[in-house]
Amino acid sequence: MARSRQGAEPRGLRELKVAVVGAGPAGFFATAELLKRADLKVQVDMFDRLPTPYGLVRHGVAPDHQSIKAIAHRYAKDAEGGGARFRLFGNVTVGRDVAVEELRERYHAIVFAFGAQSNRRLGIPGEELYGVHPASVFVGWYNGHPDCIQATYDFQIERSVVVGVGNVGLDVARVLLKSQAQLRRTDMSDVALEALRSNEIREVVILGRHTQAQATYTPSELEELAHIEDCDFVVAPRDRELDELTTRQLADGTIDPRVKKNLQIVEQKALTEPRPGRKFVRLRYFASPLEIVGEGRVEGLRIAENHVFVEDGEAKIERTPYAEVLPCGQIFRSIGYKVDPLPGVPYDDSTSSVPHEKGQILDLEGRPVPGFFVTGWAKRGPTGVIGTNKPDATETVALLFAAQAQGALGQAPLAAGVEGEIVRLLAERQVQYVSFPDWKLLDQIEVFQGKASDRPRRKFTDVPTMLKALAETKMGALPHEDLAGTGG
Ligand code: NAP
Repeated sequence: MARSRQGAEPRGLRELKVAVVGAGPAGFFATAELLKRADLKVQVDMFDRLPTPYGLVRHGVAPDHQSIKAIAHRYAKDAEGGGARFRLFGNVTVGRDVAVEELRERYHAIVFAFGAQSNRRLGIPGEELYGVHPASVFVGWYNGHPDCIQATYDFQIERSVVVGVGNVGLDVARVLLKSQAQLRRTDMSDVALEALRSNEIREVVILGRHTQAQATYTPSELEELAHIEDCDFVVAPRDRELDELTTRQLADGTIDPRVKKNLQIVEQKALTEPRPGRKFVRLRYFASPLEIVGEGRVEGLRIAENHVFVEDGEAKIERTPYAEVLPCGQIFRSIGYKVDPLPGVPYDDSTSSVPHEKGQILDLEGRPVPGFFVTGWAKRGPTGVIGTNKPDATETVALLFAAQAQGALGQAPLAAGVEGEIVRLLAERQVQYVSFPDWKLLDQIEVFQGKASDRPRRKFTDVPTMLKALAETKMGALPHEDLAGTGG
């Protein structure tokens, strides 16, 4: 591949071609920021490996949180507001269909917004047993992610354990405990709805290693857990105990308001024991997983009882000699996500992160890589809610524009010429990309298909079917008037 990168971008450039890698919330917030600039001709080309945009809004946010998913309307509005200055290249895998270096040659800047794709492992014996699942795959499965839809789950069990007290763990527990009646009006995948129809789970135990004050969930999610229909919310007296730092902060009023609210919810809403015969969710603290036990499949989780102490202003754990086996038929590890490397983008193996300074990507020696920027989970790690990506994108895009103004974007030799046109490159490679208008058609079909069962949409869950439906619709197989007015 030819590399003729000499000198810096000429000052005062009026046209700026930007590639955004990743069509999730981070990518769309960055796109909106980029398109806001009226004094520059900014062209944004967004790439995603899936034909469908919106990333975690489509495949991460729980199906019973439709109001959060509604942010996708705003992403569409902002992007479409750019007219021809915004293009989606869905179904294009950067790093496979097109190399990062090839984007670098064609764009003045690249904003990497590819998120945190893989899940973290517990690293304990027995993790390979049938019935141990990454929460991220379960979330993808119930949300119809093509990579997860083939997963299988056994719901003919009494007790599930969720390891990890973050919002994902709470989402998983809620989905396991809600009734069909509560889930069937959502956009949950058909496969998940069908499988959960015979759900016999009566009890979900969510495990945290520290005290409840160190849990990372947010009050609104905890509140929902406390209000699942026909399900008790349980925190035993031992699990309500606090570390000495939290106790002091509660007394002197310096406690984090989120933690304070969480403690109040437990105080006001939780039972200490489930009522006989009722389904329940239990939050259990001071527990570290040691080993998953079972013959051929999960039969239990051995947990150690922790002692929580405060050192250097932080709650820490040390294991006590006490351990027990918590019998269960299924375990979800919900202990966070991990940023994966993308070939061509600096990556620090020791921290599993993309090195950067406020969104300007740095090489491994700490020097800025001209034209390379990062935002979202790929920038700050898997933390924060959907809205956190907005200020994050604002910071990154401000740096990008500052670099542009200083002529510090590096050179994109093919950016101006027709030979640099990405469409031509993808056509040469026979990559069938999905444009934003194509996605709007798919969106309309999904919404249309959901109408009969009074659901927000029925999702496509595999790529070949999406592409086939798209081709057939374009050829008129589904009359367009049938789809009119169904657009999401
Ligand atoms: P998270 O908030 O980082 O929670 C991970 C949990 O795993 C923590 O409780 C952590 O506790 C625990 N953990 C880590 N390693 C462990 C181990 N080896 N053994 C036992 N426990 C372990 O991550 P998440 O739940 O995956 O959520 C990711 C982000 O998405 C968060 O920012 C979350 O708020 C956001 N999100 C938001 C929503 C929403 O707004 N509705 C929904 C879903 C996700 P320790 O303190 O013990 O390490």
